[in-house]
Amino acid sequence: MGRHGKQLAHLDELWEAGVRMFTDDGDVVADAGLMRQAMDYLATRGGVIAQHAVDPGLAAAGQIHEGAVSSLLGMSAIPAEAEEIIIARDLRLAELTGARYHVQHLSTAGGVEMIAAAKTRGLEVTAEVTPHHLAFDDSMVATTDPAYKVMPPLRSIEHMDALRAGLRDGTIDAVATDHAPHAAHDKDVPFEHAANGITGLEWAAAVVNTVAPLDPVSFYTRMAVAPAAIAGTPEHGRWVAVGNPAHLAVFDPAHEWVPERTVSRSSNTPYLGMALQGRVVATVYRGTITARDGSPAAVALTS
Ligand SMILES: [Zn+2]
Repeated sequence: MGRHGKQLAHLDELWEAGVRMFTDDGDVVADAGLMRQAMDYLATRGGVIAQHAVDPGLAAAGQIHEGAVSSLLGMSAIPAEAEEIIIARDLRLAELTGARYHVQHLSTAGGVEMIAAAKTRGLEVTAEVTPHHLAFDDSMVATTDPAYKVMPPLRSIEHMDALRAGLRDGTIDAVATDHAPHAAHDKDVPFEHAANGITGLEWAAAVVNTVAPLDPVSFYTRMAVAPAAIAGTPEHGRWVAVGNPAHLAVFDPAHEWVPERTVSRSSNTPYLGMALQGRVVATVYRGTITARDGSPAAVALTS
């Protein structure tokens, strides 16, 4: 309730209203007892509880990943264990309660290992990774460009490689952008004072196709089919077939380009100027084109 992590929200009312995925994202559910209550509730119904897995004590006022770069910069840091300890605890609770559990923006090699082991044991566990955790390691943070400040932080190259491998072998089910637009006055400030977050929705498919290429079936599964299945939105993430709703993203995997503009009102993104392979040519909702060549359809159609 209120994302304070003290009291359970009215999950029954949310469930009645159609909500199937529950999270305090932005904050961790740090209290194991509260997490168990939420899991107990959902275990009997079938919804999924998702976690922003960052232990508050270990993360404290940390700004970046704890490692060589944080030593070099002398900046307060967040160890990988801040994520891994929460995931380890939650997996035990998922086993105890039988609830479906989802890890948001997975960022550590240890997390990938634990998810793989939990799946082998038969737990109903899923995980997502962001395009930026696949694309960048914490060497980018050494520039102290606030565009690279995110939570969880960009980690070392070993973690990034483990995330790419996890996405490839299916340990990581889905890509989710953790899209976080910010006003310039919150982001164009010294690194220590900048807000966490990246806008990435416009280029997510292109970034993943560039830095962690997959075979077509795996690509569309991780980008669309699995996210919809995890979130419980049966209208979405369907393969193209007669009778299925035409909610589509038309993707050209061979298109090479460099994004130079955004249609977002926020510009806190590291992707402008980055060479990408693959491009969403159009998006379609209920059979109507909603965006084409990177612009909302109304603009694109009059040009
Ligand atoms: Zn989060």
